[in-house]
Amino acid sequence: MPTPPKPAEHVERALCVLAHPDDVDFGSAGTVATWTEAGTEVTYCIVTDGDAGGFDETPRERMGPLRRAEQEAAAAAVGVRDVRFLGYPDGRLELTLDLRRDITRVIRQVRPQRVLTSSPERFYERIGASHPDHMTVGESTLRAVYPDARNPFAFPELLADEGLEAWTVSEVWLGAGPRPDHAVDVTDVVELKFAALKSHVSQVAHRDDLEEFVGGWMRQTASRFGLPHGRMAEAFHVVHTA
Ligand SMILES: [Zn+2]
Repeated sequence: MPTPPKPAEHVERALCVLAHPDDVDFGSAGTVATWTEAGTEVTYCIVTDGDAGGFDETPRERMGPLRRAEQEAAAAAVGVRDVRFLGYPDGRLELTLDLRRDITRVIRQVRPQRVLTSSPERFYERIGASHPDHMTVGESTLRAVYPDARNPFAFPELLADEGLEAWTVSEVWLGAGPRPDHAVDVTDVVELKFAALKSHVSQVAHRDDLEEFVGGWMRQTASRFGLPHGRMAEAFHVVHTA
């Protein structure tokens, strides 16, 4: 099998599209920290407010605003200041044209060279990674990248009413999927990732094994990709979309 082409060394702008507050932090905040340190401007687009998450008696109507605030703090911990929420209901995402249009709008606004999202493929070895909302957001984002965002005749109201020109994304990084082919060594920024994760107090406050658990996971990923012993990595399936 030919080796896949490598992702770009550096991009100006990256957009991360995820279903729930905290999704980006578990799987990708270390990678995001390496990007912002290298000067890439990163935007988060979070599709739901995560109002079906949590583990305690927090009233449901308070969960959405709480989780938005937690995601903004987590973003700041890895150098991301632009966080956008689409406000869809948690746990009930469907593959709709409305969702495709809303993601297309953000792609055309941000004009990223790189998009990071969840894999649309079910990962049978780790069923929790394949939350239906994650797969729906991954598939919707890929459909928005190709063909909607680049086609001026797709969702023509975006151009006519909002002046949003077509935009072609060059590469899409799929997280938490069954076929990762690219690992990012995040050992040197791992404290930033842990700080981001701990910002999600409503989700992780009851876990004192968080660093051990997520760290163990990242060590396994590093060794699977042949990185030196003790290193930590996050892995992705990089799809070239230019
Ligand atoms: Zn999630």
